[in-house]
Amino acid sequence: MAEKLPDHVYDVVILGGGPGGFTAGIYAARAGLKALLLEGETSVSQITATDLIENYPGIPDGIGGFELVERFKTQALKFGLETTRDEAKSLLRISLDNVPAWEVAAENKTYAALAVIAATGTNWRRLGVPGEEAHIGKGVSFCATCDGPFYRNREVVVVGGGDTALQEALFLTHFASRVTLIHRRSRLRAAAILQERARKNEKIRFLWDSVVKEIRGKEFVEAVLVENLPSKEVSQVSAEGVFIFVGLTPNTAPFSRIVNLDENGYIVTDQEMKTSEAGIFAAGDCTRKLLRQVVTACGDGATAAFSAQLYVEALKGRSYLAFSDEARIK
Ligand code: NAP
Repeated sequence: MAEKLPDHVYDVVILGGGPGGFTAGIYAARAGLKALLLEGETSVSQITATDLIENYPGIPDGIGGFELVERFKTQALKFGLETTRDEAKSLLRISLDNVPAWEVAAENKTYAALAVIAATGTNWRRLGVPGEEAHIGKGVSFCATCDGPFYRNREVVVVGGGDTALQEALFLTHFASRVTLIHRRSRLRAAAILQERARKNEKIRFLWDSVVKEIRGKEFVEAVLVENLPSKEVSQVSAEGVFIFVGLTPNTAPFSRIVNLDENGYIVTDQEMKTSEAGIFAAGDCTRKLLRQVVTACGDGATAAFSAQLYVEALKGRSYLAFSDEARIK
């Protein structure tokens, strides 16, 4: 292939402005690739809604999610990554002078690239109970960092038993007079350190083996109806805020007909963060993986960028690892 691409064509377009995406951006830019990252226009990286990250190595005192992502971005821009606010909607395989490439159709514009890195993350799962949709922004929230301060000296409910529910419940105790954590089982999924802190916190009480049946309130949330699963007894819990942390759904709709997804909609990759489709790589929470953390997303992002670099160099016929070019393009 000709060394020189048409001006509008990128070596790699990275979809998603979270830890996976920006780390891919840092590596791609440092590798000399012409790289563009699309940050969601209406969506934000979930990590920016986390008030404190304590387990990212090298930052022993912890750091806010927003600040950490801003630092990733500053670092990527320093090395020449281009960014824009746009949201990918679909992908199309195209050919540029017989060279395979991808067209990314986004909300505002269409972009062309030899390789694409999907780092689109996840979104908060909903409970799907009456009153949930109607009260979003009126007491129902998916972000304690954003909305917690509105509940000073008020009673709130947290739903879920994972790391997010526990971490956010602990954060809410800085404001709320009482935090009732409703979990559908009698034990928590969250990491032991978070469980221990929550159990020691006098403001947190647990409703075990219980599920929310309805969120009630005229305009704003006033209470939730809770069913105790073993007894089937339904009771009303007063609360002005309902914080829902019942897991995640992957933002993989643009890729659903192109790359292999697992049964839950996560992108399946190999160890080199290659997907089932040549030229599409994936990183971070949107991929099928055991552990969704900032540090693992960053690792994925670095690997995906390096894989993309090898793929692009092989396409351009200037790979240092020439012996494996054919395998890499497949
Ligand atoms: P998660 O680990 O999937 O936990 C979701 C929780 O919600 C589970 O306890 C689950 O119950 C419950 N749940 C699911 N559907 C429900 C429903 N319809 N009704 C009631 N409860 C329901 O999700 P997450 O806590 O958001 O964490 C997501 C990922 O981010 C995890 O990998 C986590 O480790 C990571 N994370 C890490 C940190 C940290 O390291 N500090 C902080 C936040 C998140 P069951 O337990 O019964 O399935």
